[in-house]
Amino acid sequence: MFGLLKGFGVTVSQIPKKKVTLQYPDVKPNWPDRFRGVHKFNPNLCIVCNQCARICPTSCISLSGSRGEDKKLHIETYDINFEICILCDLCTEVCPTEAIQMTDTFELAEYNRDALYKNMEWLVENGKQHAQRKGLIGEASVHDANDTDEVAGKAGEK
Ligand code: SF4
Ligand code: SF4
Repeated sequence: MFGLLKGFGVTVSQIPKKKVTLQYPDVKPNWPDRFRGVHKFNPNLCIVCNQCARICPTSCISLSGSRGEDKKLHIETYDINFEICILCDLCTEVCPTEAIQMTDTFELAEYNRDALYKNMEWLVENGKQHAQRKGLIGEASVHDANDTDEVAGKAGEK
């Protein structure tokens, strides 16, 4: 009986305290600026140096590129396997052009493992959604927005 009252007392004492839980998914968490969610990618900034793939501790980045008529290397494919990505941030730290950056995207549940293999188009789209959440581009323009260096840079500051 004493144990029951003691437990009830603990419950009652929590009622006036500030709530720390959210009604997720109706209410989204407000992540800190340095939150490390899944990546966004800007093909216009990538110089195909391969440093991100080389430093990745789980080897989950694969990319390919080719040399254009301007003699510069241009990215053709860029894939991240989020089944084994540990969101360590090393790839974004080493990238000399900030072509690859982390976002606040964290909802990545899928019904099969293959769906966790995200390609360049998905990463670019994730960057647009991230910019929209941060108020850098409007909802109407989110699908039309060319993922410019300016947008990518501003989003990276967030
Ligand atoms: S965050 Fe870490 S594990 Fe994930 S792709 Fe980048 S380097 Fe690899
Ligand atoms: S994303 Fe950055 S580090 Fe990776 S290949 Fe492109 S420029 Fe190099």
